[in-house]
Amino acid sequence: MRVRVLGSAAGGGFPQWNCGCPNCAGVRAGTIRATVRTQESVAVSADGEGWVLLNVSPEIRQQVESFPGLHPRGPRHSPIDAIVLTNGDLDHTLGLLSLRESHPLVIYATERVRLGFTEGNVLYRTLERFPGQVTWRLLALGREEEIARADGAGTGLLMEAVPAPGKPPIHLEGARPPDPEDSIGLRIREVSTGRCLAYFAAAGGVTPAVLDAMAGADGVFFDGTFWASDELPALGLGSKRAEEMAHLPIGGAGGSLAALRGVRAPRRIYIHINNTNPILRDDSAERRAVDAAGWEVAQDGMEVTL
Ligand SMILES: [Zn+2]
Ligand SMILES: [Zn+2]
Repeated sequence: MRVRVLGSAAGGGFPQWNCGCPNCAGVRAGTIRATVRTQESVAVSADGEGWVLLNVSPEIRQQVESFPGLHPRGPRHSPIDAIVLTNGDLDHTLGLLSLRESHPLVIYATERVRLGFTEGNVLYRTLERFPGQVTWRLLALGREEEIARADGAGTGLLMEAVPAPGKPPIHLEGARPPDPEDSIGLRIREVSTGRCLAYFAAAGGVTPAVLDAMAGADGVFFDGTFWASDELPALGLGSKRAEEMAHLPIGGAGGSLAALRGVRAPRRIYIHINNTNPILRDDSAERRAVDAAGWEVAQDGMEVTL
């Protein structure tokens, strides 16, 4: 199974357009050891020909151009066989509207995420211009199924949606009560080899279901949004703690580095990294702590073969 990181940053990217935090200012000025990143999206393939996108960031056009594996192989063609949405946040879904050039799309999502994106959204009409432009396939928690192309042919990848502690997207907060289908992780298994990827780009905690999904996986991606609970307040960037935004921080006694120390996957990778996170600095103490625990930090263009 090939896993290509198209984008590795949390919402806003790195640097973020309106942010002058030490990381954003430093990477702009070239005064810190850090690499710019686009917003989180990953492409997965069993055969290296067709690809399944996990989330579609607002930078999808640039991300497709940056990876020859996703370039068209005919006058009108895309190797993108299907798209999976793990929640309804705009950094994970907004790119769908940029894929509006009359191309059939297959989108897997929970019913909650589908409704959150389509209901009352006049811009969604751009993806309803002809019959079959979008085929929604609804994900049910805990059911393994093969990801299929628009014509029904299999992709060689089996997928199970796993509830991940989360919340509705910010623009729908208060509009509907929270629901287990607001945010999911994925366990993806390659049919031919049995190789397995556990993918949790956003998770407010580590539950038994999350640990089950990681058991025996060959590669694990996990929410690396924040290092500390009070990362934003400490920088004067708002009042919300990481957990209030449904992101378990990496560091601290209750953080993901501690909670996932029993996970033995050969590749363990933090993704969806907020621009304030000190692990973005290649020479920070926090980055050394992550390295020492055997975890990697995702970068745009990184490719992992499981
Ligand atoms: Zn996000
Ligand atoms: Zn910043």
